[in-house]
Amino acid sequence: MKKELRNIGRFRKAGYQAIDRICDYYYSLEDKPVVAQVEPGYLRKLLPDAAPETGEPFQTIADDFQKQIMPGITHWQHPSFFGYFPTASTLAGTIGDLYASSVAGPGFNWLCSPAATELEAITMDWAAKLFGLDEVFMASSLKGGGVIQPTASDSCLTAVVAARSRFSKLHPETHLQNLVIYGTTMTHSLGAKAALILGLSFRALEVSRDDAYGLRGETLQKALREDRAAGKIPFILIATIGTTSSCAIDNITEIEQAVKEYPELWIHIDAAYAGVTLTCPEFREMCHLDAINRFAHSFCTNFHKWGLVNFEASGMWVRDRTLLTDALDVTPEFLRTKHSEEGTVIDYRNWQLALGKRFRALKLWFVLRSYGAEGFRAHIRKGIKQAELFATRIRESKKFEIVAPPSFALVVFRIIGSVNEGSPPPSLAQLNSLNRIFHQRVSARPDIFVIQTDIEGMYCMRFVPGAERTEDKHIEAAVRLFEEEATKALQEWEA
Ligand SMILES: *Cc1c(COP(=O)(O)O)cnc(C)c1O
Repeated sequence: MKKELRNIGRFRKAGYQAIDRICDYYYSLEDKPVVAQVEPGYLRKLLPDAAPETGEPFQTIADDFQKQIMPGITHWQHPSFFGYFPTASTLAGTIGDLYASSVAGPGFNWLCSPAATELEAITMDWAAKLFGLDEVFMASSLKGGGVIQPTASDSCLTAVVAARSRFSKLHPETHLQNLVIYGTTMTHSLGAKAALILGLSFRALEVSRDDAYGLRGETLQKALREDRAAGKIPFILIATIGTTSSCAIDNITEIEQAVKEYPELWIHIDAAYAGVTLTCPEFREMCHLDAINRFAHSFCTNFHKWGLVNFEASGMWVRDRTLLTDALDVTPEFLRTKHSEEGTVIDYRNWQLALGKRFRALKLWFVLRSYGAEGFRAHIRKGIKQAELFATRIRESKKFEIVAPPSFALVVFRIIGSVNEGSPPPSLAQLNSLNRIFHQRVSARPDIFVIQTDIEGMYCMRFVPGAERTEDKHIEAAVRLFEEEATKALQEWEA
């Protein structure tokens, strides 16, 4: 008992200190380099090559966290982090996660911890309501419902596995190797990866600049006809709202018409980044919410990107829960429970690939309650406004051009060469080399982070605000920094 008290006392002390240090961390983010300034293998040089034989005090470990680990951290919550897409970490999410750690259980069946399952179903219903998803996607409808997957890749793979199982049950004679997953050349690599894992093929349909890189119904229809005629079997389309490269939106409304003759085609919506904008009614039309509500089989958005919930928490909703449970329910005797047999509860192990799961609903619950719908919407609108501010400044500058118009909070831009009177405009290859120089210069700066992308052979930069701590002044500072580096890149390029 004494030892137990002593341990708890130590935890209390270390815990208070950890919270203090976490707070200090958040409020000193701006003084840190955005990207870790270390070389590969830096940590192996600092750490012993085996775990200690005898336990060490928390204080020593906590201090080493500051000294050894922190320098190797890239600060995704830094107000000048504009790379990839944002990854959320909020104080509310952190507290939820902390409590989840304290009551850890694997949550695979309702009985594992009834609260974990029920809170997940309830908070996913709350979120569905917040996004304007149809009631059928809510667990309360007893038809569909939501499940928190680790990542959008898991959500997609789960959908593909379920779609394959559904198709082969409908057509037991099917040669599975003929099944084709559809997406576009802009679809996230999760589509190709699902195909790789499952031994299926992935067909990337062409999209064009004229359509802002979104999939058109006609393109899909043509491909489906072609493939069917060639003996291939279309069984799932991964449609994206907000692609990674340019935040393109597939035309779900047209797709609904295009797939009328293909009732067996599963439609999975990957809105990993942009789906959270559905909290704001003004984005629902451009996200084709009505069409999604009418015919999508599954919908995914990541709370852990722009949605204020600490990594990882990918929301996945299905219109019909039996589509998942029919595919994924494997119940050996030891997993049978009275409640499951009676069908009165959800057992999330049948809604996902893994057996166990973290109690992720707790951080979602803390976030949704502490921000409220209003706070959530305000956060999304702030990101959009900052992207617009950035685009305005870039347009005002003579050194850059916008390559893909601002979509959600993503702006794709590139530096353009100065055109001298009488000399021909620079070629694509020349501009690409200029943009590479520009990107290298910007990447060498510790005070900002952006990444590049390729759009139809054009080397471009992506700029995405969305961190909770980013303010307008950080956007203005980023523009000034880009101007400065553009001037130097032009000098370097012309030399
Ligand atoms: C980020 C992103 C993904 C991958 O998300 P994970 O949760 O890391 O798997 C997939 N699709 C889109 C559109 C994304 O933006």
